[in-house]
Amino acid sequence: MKVLITGGAGFIGSHLAELLLNKGQEVYCIDDLSTGRLQNVHHLRQNPRFHLAVETILNESVMDRLVSDCDVIYHLAAAVGVELIVKSPVETIQRNILGTDVVLRLANRYLRRVLITSTSEIYGKSEATPFREDDDRVLGPTTKSRWSYSCSKAIDEFLALAYHKEKNLQTIIMRLFNTVGPRQTGRYGMVIPRLVQQALKNQPLTVYGDGKQVRCFTYVQDVVAAAARLMETPKAIGQVFNIGNTEGIAIGELAEKIKALTGSKSEIVLIPYDKAYEEGFEDMRIRVPDLSKANRVIGYEPKVKLDEILKRVIEYFRQQEEEGR
Ligand code: UDP
Repeated sequence: MKVLITGGAGFIGSHLAELLLNKGQEVYCIDDLSTGRLQNVHHLRQNPRFHLAVETILNESVMDRLVSDCDVIYHLAAAVGVELIVKSPVETIQRNILGTDVVLRLANRYLRRVLITSTSEIYGKSEATPFREDDDRVLGPTTKSRWSYSCSKAIDEFLALAYHKEKNLQTIIMRLFNTVGPRQTGRYGMVIPRLVQQALKNQPLTVYGDGKQVRCFTYVQDVVAAAARLMETPKAIGQVFNIGNTEGIAIGELAEKIKALTGSKSEIVLIPYDKAYEEGFEDMRIRVPDLSKANRVIGYEPKVKLDEILKRVIEYFRQQEEEGR
């Protein structure tokens, strides 16, 4: 089995590459290293079944060759991270929509099965948790750039479902809920790597808003295992799946937990959203997935609990510090 992973040098992509190599598959990755890093796949480069093209997915001739050579496509390449999205909305919209357009057009040309990675941002600021795949979406105005991410990913979903409906292309969509784990960087806004690094450096832990907003964090290995299962499940074709964890925590509490687990002397500071992102920034108060569909179709159940996730992330950043990275 030959697979193509777009965004294969990214945080999730690199874990997926590792899993598929362990399953004996031939793994081709394409990554423009905009948010991905060579360091993420350094340990895979000795494996003769691992291949990496440092190139954008918007390069259609490179993508054409890769798609024609592979049996299936995992499409993960995207602009991600709320901070990046708020700072670079043009890039976010273009990359997410045009990139997925290229992937789906080529998948359709060579009749390849394709898994599209989407996001819980799709549900927007709805508070009707837990979110089911067919729930309504609640979004803010177009003047607030955060919502461009949700809309760009929704267009990706519409397009993938349309290719399935109209052209019978084998498309599958997974909506990820706050995926975390080693190799995730805090550079683009993600809260866990950020707070852990602050704690290890005894710097103030920056909790945005009132810290009462709730998130459910999913360990990256649970996510990539689900991606591989979805890909090999014919019943998943033409369907959308939430992939996440249902164990919620308020961000203020998360900061306390990280402080305790690292033994840090850091203080916890509340930073208004206007300062953290931009004026008028809107956040989600609560985000919890309903996982019954993924459970029914692929037997999905997240295995790694929050305390264990935090221990592994702390260990990862401690090691990075020791290695001087
Ligand atoms: N957040 C925070 N401090 C940070 C970074 C993020 O309090 O340094 C908050 C953010 O506003 C959000 C939550 O933590 O309410 C999760 O943020 P993240 O960017 O990880 O994912 P999101 O849920 O926004 O997609």
